[in-house]
Amino acid sequence: MQGVFVDPVHRTARVAGGSLLGELDREAQAYGLITPTGTVSHTGVGGLTLGGGIGRLTRLYGLTCDNVVSMEVITADGQLRHASENENADLFWGLRGGGGNFGVVTSFEFRLHPFNSTVTAGNLVYPLELAPKVFEFAAQYAATLPPEAAIGMSLLSLPNGVKIASVEFIHCGALSTGAALAKPLRDFMKPLNDTIATTTFTQVQTQGDAVQGPGHRQYTKGGFLPKMQAGVIEAAVAAIQSARLPLMHGIFFGQLGGGAMSKVSPGETAFPNRDADYVTFMFLQWDEPAHSAPAIDWARQAWKGIEPFSQGFYTNFMPSDVGQRHVDENYGSNLEKLTRVKNKYDPTNLFRLNANVLPARGS
Ligand SMILES: Cc1cc2nc3c(=O)[nH]c(=O)nc-3n(C[C@H](O)[C@H](O)[C@H](O)COP(=O)(O)OP(=O)(O)OC[C@H]3O[C@@H](n4cnc5c(N)ncnc54)[C@H](O)[C@@H]3O)c2cc1C
Repeated sequence: MQGVFVDPVHRTARVAGGSLLGELDREAQAYGLITPTGTVSHTGVGGLTLGGGIGRLTRLYGLTCDNVVSMEVITADGQLRHASENENADLFWGLRGGGGNFGVVTSFEFRLHPFNSTVTAGNLVYPLELAPKVFEFAAQYAATLPPEAAIGMSLLSLPNGVKIASVEFIHCGALSTGAALAKPLRDFMKPLNDTIATTTFTQVQTQGDAVQGPGHRQYTKGGFLPKMQAGVIEAAVAAIQSARLPLMHGIFFGQLGGGAMSKVSPGETAFPNRDADYVTFMFLQWDEPAHSAPAIDWARQAWKGIEPFSQGFYTNFMPSDVGQRHVDENYGSNLEKLTRVKNKYDPTNLFRLNANVLPARGS
């Protein structure tokens, strides 16, 4: 079920349930419009939106789910329902952050924003040893940036053993402002490579597609950080320093705080983690079956160093070994209402292969 239909007059897009982010970006950008999505264009709109949807425009326009106007959804009883603020409002609430718990969304209607396709964006790459100083400066500086700009910080141990740190910068708006805002980051310490330049947003949105492509073994683990601290950077650097396997080990920090995401209260949609300053996740990728056990073991060990700085996790990056108690805790004060919505629309828990909301409680 793929297809994106833009209504440029009302600034909305009707998106079929199986569409990919790249299709939505491309069609909306053809009209100079956008809705915030994720960072890899072959990710599905469906799962990403229902779990929240975090990306380069989260500070500017909020989560992807914050930009949904309505949905067509087939619930567990086989009924096709329209969900919006005015119709089945409880279902609409639960679908925005509650993942695939309530039914199959056959189409989404998104709000679109006017958006200039030309942006200032790129990466500054450093040797791993400089990461603590560079990241500390970047995080302090990022806290002063307007919502039109955002940074991401990555630590990588590549399959050939090379270890690097990088800071991704993006600014959407006047190019002169973008260049001026990037300058302190570029000037702070000389990078090995500096790719910050004028480019198109759709180009930025596809730059990670190949590296994170299908057909490989992958493991992801992560959480939200209430604030960026020196301790979490140290733990992440130590983890990357300890990486010995000939495969891609990555630890990523994405800036979220101080923008549109945190302006929505945690109870307004089912997505609970509104106060996060950063999202962090580990990304491992390999092909050899023999690397699976040591790679996952490395990730679990590395996470032990980072986890004490985290609070809650992003359900769309949830590994399968997270227990129900943690899933419940993560929904926080929204769990009770989620349970009521689950009881109403999926009382037998037909949709359970997800960050599951159990229907029995409180029914
Ligand atoms: C390479 C890569 C990059 C990523 N980058 C980001 C990112 O930048 N930002 C971010 O927020 N997340 C990101 N993610 C996480 C992503 O949000 C989740 O993996 C999400 O589940 C993807 O949704 P999907 O529709 O592609 O997946 P699928 O595997 O098709 O679906 C996953 C689950 O979502 C639910 N679901 C999917 N479609 C529907 C539907 N139409 N109706 C009801 N339920 C549905 C179901 O429960 C399903 O089991 C990334 C993941 C990958 C693999």
